[in-house]
Amino acid sequence: MDFDALFNSQLDALKADGNYRIFAELERQCGQFPKARSHDDDAPDQVTVWCSNDYLGMGQHPKVQKAMVDAVLAHGTGAGGTRNISGTNNCHVALEAELADLHGKEDALLFTSGYVSNWAALSTLGSRLADCVILSDELNHASMIEGIRHSRAKKVIWKHNDPEDLDRKLAALPANAPKIVAFESVYSMDGDICPMEEILEVAEKHGAMTYLDEVHAVGLYGPRGGGVSEERGLADRITLIEGTLGKAYGCMGGYITGSAAMCDFIRSFASGFIFTTALPPAVAAAAATSIAHLKESQVERDRQKQQVAKLRNMLDARGIPHLDNPSHIVPVMIKDPVKCKMLADILMQDWGIYVQPINYPTVPKGTERLRFTPGPLHSDADILHLVEALSVLWKQCAIAHAVA
Ligand SMILES: *Cc1c(COP(=O)(O)O)cnc(C)c1O
Repeated sequence: MDFDALFNSQLDALKADGNYRIFAELERQCGQFPKARSHDDDAPDQVTVWCSNDYLGMGQHPKVQKAMVDAVLAHGTGAGGTRNISGTNNCHVALEAELADLHGKEDALLFTSGYVSNWAALSTLGSRLADCVILSDELNHASMIEGIRHSRAKKVIWKHNDPEDLDRKLAALPANAPKIVAFESVYSMDGDICPMEEILEVAEKHGAMTYLDEVHAVGLYGPRGGGVSEERGLADRITLIEGTLGKAYGCMGGYITGSAAMCDFIRSFASGFIFTTALPPAVAAAAATSIAHLKESQVERDRQKQQVAKLRNMLDARGIPHLDNPSHIVPVMIKDPVKCKMLADILMQDWGIYVQPINYPTVPKGTERLRFTPGPLHSDADILHLVEALSVLWKQCAIAHAVA
């Protein structure tokens, strides 16, 4: 059987739809972020990254770098095993304490990524709690969807950010079944933020536990970077808060926080926790340093907010439409996969601006977009350059559109 032909026919279909993914090969250079060297032949040598989830540049923060290097020199490269079999290092334990403190919870549990933490925690809760029903916001991240699917628990999807729909759906369920309401704070593609207090009120009314993904908020929101739940003073009402160490904290790994019993339960039963080698101690040490820094320091968050506002104002001044939202994410809607990719290619090749086209399946078809994430290290000149490039392309696109 010609397996490659089978593979290629599906890849060809992706290409025909404009949804085939091509990665930009970058060489990140310390001290230069958000500038990076491009290894692609048709891009300039140096490009400005406009779509990084290293939202605050913590991946190149001298304190964080030093923590990682020191820990490698002190403890070596790998953890040496799963957490159960010789893999639990002092760095993991210290990081879990840092995380529990960040969210004001009794305990925390580390995973190798945010994806794995959602997948493992939801699949364990959903499969081990008898008759459990998971109520999932319709725009939840793939990692939550996969965890719920794997749990084989009954799943009910509620309308995005709609507490009234959630209320109706909870009311229709048996009163004595354990229920989990799973949702996110900042939704990463539209940049909208959930009505957290209203959702909590509904969940509490029905005795449901709450599962909150704060992946795009930790480090960024709240006076200590504890996320939207900290900013709004709601963390103590949420059963489980999940986050990543790979985005604003600039490292890698994922976690959950909550009661000691719940963390112990997931530690004891989650396959995705038990059967995989622990994070390198140096990654844990760097993440703990990044979290501790952002608990104290406001300069990164303040400057990020300023630069986000500047970009929005300048886009408005040039009439370039972007989704209005209260977060740090600036989506410019293109609504066509081929055009979206073409614009991104031109920005990269002619302007040295790197923004990844966001196409299906990351977003629904017809909502393709360029997603900009301004950070504290984007200069005013970077912003001006971006807005100028977009204005030129907007005019060209409009002309092309009129001719077609
Ligand atoms: C990126 C992302 C994750 C996964 O986190 P990683 O640490 O990158 O695996 C989980 N939830 C949401 C909403 C995300 O955007």
